Amino acid sequence: MKVLTRTQFGNPILRKVAEPVPVAEISSKEIQELIANMRHTLLEKKLGIGLAAPQVGVSKAVVVIAIRPLAHRHKVEPFDLTLINPEITECIGRRTAMYEGCISGGPGKASFLAKVPRYKKIKVRYYDETGKQHHQIYEGFRAQIIQHEVDHLSGILFVDRVKDTTSYLTYAEYMKRARKMLAKQK
Ligand code: ZN
Repeated sequence: MKVLTRTQFGNPILRKVAEPVPVAEISSKEIQELIANMRHTLLEKKLGIGLAAPQVGVSKAVVVIAIRPLAHRHKVEPFDLTLINPEITECIGRRTAMYEGCISGGPGKASFLAKVPRYKKIKVRYYDETGKQHHQIYEGFRAQIIQHEVDHLSGILFVDRVKDTTSYLTYAEYMKRARKMLAKQK
């Protein structure tokens, strides 16, 4: 497996609509390798939580999610999901603004975040890596990540959705706040 090179804001591929994967091709070596390498890239580089194929230079409708607990998010459960040709079919409830960043927004500590309004609950239709179709409800953090990644497949970046532009902050400043919040919880 290999660590894939990430594309960054400004790269035109991030503004393109990704091509759907024909269902018969999901089991192909090309798609299976892409999924394995995307997952490897996320976990190996500890890049955070989700990656859409255009972020590794491939304009295909493939998303890999790998949530792991971290110091500032120690309460989250490990969670893995592959979404092929995902489509959000229903948004449930109101939107809430939550901090969000993007792997394509700069390398690690040089990145930035902002508050993005996202639905707390969504229903998503997608194929998994075995070619099985699902139509499932996701909530909370998982729903937030899925909305971010599905946006990537339409050429939409989180910065396009920011309403409160005063909420932009650097990664270092975000971590400072996250640590303070954690200290308060203890
Ligand atoms: Zn992103």
